[in-house]
Amino acid sequence: MRPLRDAAGPAPVDSGAREAGRELPRFAPTLPFYFPGLTSLLGFAALLASFAGNVAPLGAAPEGHPARLVANGAPEPAPRWLSAASLLGPKRPAPEIAPSVQALAGATLVGGHAYGFLRELTENYGPRLTGSPTHAGAARWALATFRTIGVDDARLEEFDLKSGWVRGAVTLRVVDPVERQLSAQALGWAPTPPGGSLRAEVVLVENLTEAAARAEELAGKALLPARADTTRDLAGRKRAIEALSKAGVAALLSRGRRQNNAANARACYGCGDLIAPLPMVELGLEDASWLEGRVKAGPVTIDLANASRLTGPTRVPNVVAEVRGRERPDEYVLVGAHLDSWDFATGAQDDGAGVAQVLEAARAVVASGERPRRSIRFALWAGEEQGLYGSRAYVKAHAGELDRVAAVVNADHGAGAPKGWWLDARPDLLERLGPLARRLFAGLGAADLKDEFHCDTDHCPFALAGIPTFNLDVNDEAYDDVHHAANDTLDEVNERDLAAGAACVVTAAYALADLPGRVGPRLSHAEVTENLKASGALDDLIAEGLYAP
Ligand SMILES: [Zn+2]
Repeated sequence: MRPLRDAAGPAPVDSGAREAGRELPRFAPTLPFYFPGLTSLLGFAALLASFAGNVAPLGAAPEGHPARLVANGAPEPAPRWLSAASLLGPKRPAPEIAPSVQALAGATLVGGHAYGFLRELTENYGPRLTGSPTHAGAARWALATFRTIGVDDARLEEFDLKSGWVRGAVTLRVVDPVERQLSAQALGWAPTPPGGSLRAEVVLVENLTEAAARAEELAGKALLPARADTTRDLAGRKRAIEALSKAGVAALLSRGRRQNNAANARACYGCGDLIAPLPMVELGLEDASWLEGRVKAGPVTIDLANASRLTGPTRVPNVVAEVRGRERPDEYVLVGAHLDSWDFATGAQDDGAGVAQVLEAARAVVASGERPRRSIRFALWAGEEQGLYGSRAYVKAHAGELDRVAAVVNADHGAGAPKGWWLDARPDLLERLGPLARRLFAGLGAADLKDEFHCDTDHCPFALAGIPTFNLDVNDEAYDDVHHAANDTLDEVNERDLAAGAACVVTAAYALADLPGRVGPRLSHAEVTENLKASGALDDLIAEGLYAP
């Protein structure tokens, strides 16, 4: 609430009325004078108006509001009023907010289909491990859905996976000095013990590197590291595991990170591209702690059986669809999410939500009958969970046309309320796009732009190729509870937040495809390296084998 004027100002008036821009003579026989109750009511209404803040004088007095006079008759400086015109903005919206962009966002929020798409995917196909029959079925469903939507083209683009893998039951049993069944799950793409089972003594190791340094003395043992493996030095880890396998280590036991022995076991060493050289299983968090305590007290022997299977070389599909642009159809904005999921649940948020938002964006664009200047290409990737295989395969297969990709929009951070966009080491975009982001996304709560680089999902191979990428950031406070876990299910998804995310995806896709000029240049390899170095991400990317300067 703003302060009252000082005593040199005009005659005392109803302060609430003054705040609202009206001045009442002190003793004028106005209606409120005779009805004190009504006076209070009007005063209160004016007070509310002043609290609303929007009545704060911002523009010239509109017609019908005469300039005020001070006591000596001199005109008071005209207050600046907030007019209806300034609220509505210019008559012609900025080109990036064409009526079609506004209509598309509205169409996803009112009467949209994102939740329906997600329900079909999760209920009919469920877990979608890359290369599994349910993943293949979901890809056929997505292809059929794009065609039903009425896009100009929809197809499967397959790539090779060294082997498929099917999870089977794991039995991990302590047989000496006590008998006890422990909670354990297979790690993906790790081989089963010879003959399906093994018996071994458990040995505690600090980590895989430390174990590899004394590999010979660990022959025939099952190794339990001191803590969960979070290393980013994937090349170093691969070397250590190969050394342990060569020395004849029987098995690796990793440690879960979720309470109540809840299954996670998403880690894999190579994940379909590179078959792990020895059996690996993940113990539940509490059971791993119990086992560690027993091993510290004396020798412990386990029996380990694993019915999981490697299924051999397989081809897996990316699903790709396109709506052609009206002026420059050869240029396109790529809008993606990953269709595969880890296999403990239906992957409703990782990344069924993104899949539903991409499908909904395609549906809304086609249904609008409008076409942006450039084409919009939609992609539902395979193999994201194993190492961004689908998007990396696309970048390789389409290397000759990457100059024609104007931007990439990606949705893979769960189904929380949208917050903004990661621009991933593009300070040039960050500076220029702030005002545009506010105009486009403030109403969806998603105008926040961030520049840190995260190679955590399928935008990354494109960002590393110098293409501007927009990775949707959402409220992920509850995401960790479901991420890669058995409770990543439809009932944890908020329909409104999912629709708001879809509105963000379609708004970004259409606006970027319809801009008169490109949103930003494609960077050279040297410029990408420079940006990665400045953002502190370069060393990790090199260690993970994802980037070579
Ligand atoms: Zn994901």
